[in-house]
Amino acid sequence: MAETPRKKSRLIPEVDFSRDGKQTGFVRLFHSTHDSAYGFLPIPIVVVRNGDGPTALLTAGNHGDEYEGQVALTNLAKWLTPERIRGRVILLPMANFPAALAGRRVSPIDDLNMNRIFPGDPDGTVTRQIAHFIDSALIPLADLVIDLHSGGSSLMYIPCALAKQSANPAVFERQLAALRAFGAPYTYIQGGAQGQGGDQTLGSGADRRGIIALGTELGGTGTLTPAGLAIAERGLRNLLVHLGILPRDEWREPPAPTRFLDVRGPEMYVYAPENGLFEPLVELGEEVAPGRPAARIHVPETPWLPPVEVRFNAAGIVMCKRIPARTKRGDCLFHLASDLSIA
Ligand SMILES: [Zn+2]
Repeated sequence: MAETPRKKSRLIPEVDFSRDGKQTGFVRLFHSTHDSAYGFLPIPIVVVRNGDGPTALLTAGNHGDEYEGQVALTNLAKWLTPERIRGRVILLPMANFPAALAGRRVSPIDDLNMNRIFPGDPDGTVTRQIAHFIDSALIPLADLVIDLHSGGSSLMYIPCALAKQSANPAVFERQLAALRAFGAPYTYIQGGAQGQGGDQTLGSGADRRGIIALGTELGGTGTLTPAGLAIAERGLRNLLVHLGILPRDEWREPPAPTRFLDVRGPEMYVYAPENGLFEPLVELGEEVAPGRPAARIHVPETPWLPPVEVRFNAAGIVMCKRIPARTKRGDCLFHLASDLSIA
């Protein structure tokens, strides 16, 4: 069950989560600096409520250089009205506000990646305080949390939805039902694979409380992909219909049912074995077999040496690819996803 936070958040929302109607404003994070002694960082928030009913918490900008979710929630902030819904929707389009404002994965204030520090700390640096506010003040209000991501500056994804498999089978069933409603072309299920944040992500904060946690990877490379945005916009509405927050006539049928994929093993990832220049040998969406060459790492500093070849260790679809050619040992170059055997 949920742990009771030892300390209350220092952040102050300008909205009242229990009030009916549509409220817009900021969560104030007081941050005393040389330039602004008594000032606050204004984290935008929108709350739309119409009576009792389920609550959806929709977040984006957890990583500041991932844009489809930020725009989808910005559009939803204008479209959602209390008359349209039953229950409550909470929108946080720039969750790590300083990072989103800077267009960076990590905060320019404390250099922290917010999706690796949950449940946060009310007495910590700025990013730790935001994570703690989301974890202790927003997530407990929700029946479902979806945290919208893309690949960020260094990665490109085939647009997809995802969930980390809840250890609670009943919650996992509800995750799968919600993912079917979201209706992305692909949906992958994470296990505890290295590098994906483990129990330090926003979604893990929801899962700790038995709340349905979903995510997305809608594109990447620090740009906004129209196809990813369209998937997010249709998916969010369908998710709200699925929860009973929006009426059935707002449902938009996806072109095809989502294809469930599995990214639960470390063998699905390919890493650079050396520093050098990354030459990809496959493209996103290709289906590969184990042993297929994935990349060459060239070393122009010693051009007489042969490139290092990297091979895939598993079969699957290429879901994600590194973008910058300049690569260091340990960088993730690709990850695969294989078909998931569920219903
Ligand atoms: Zn992200």
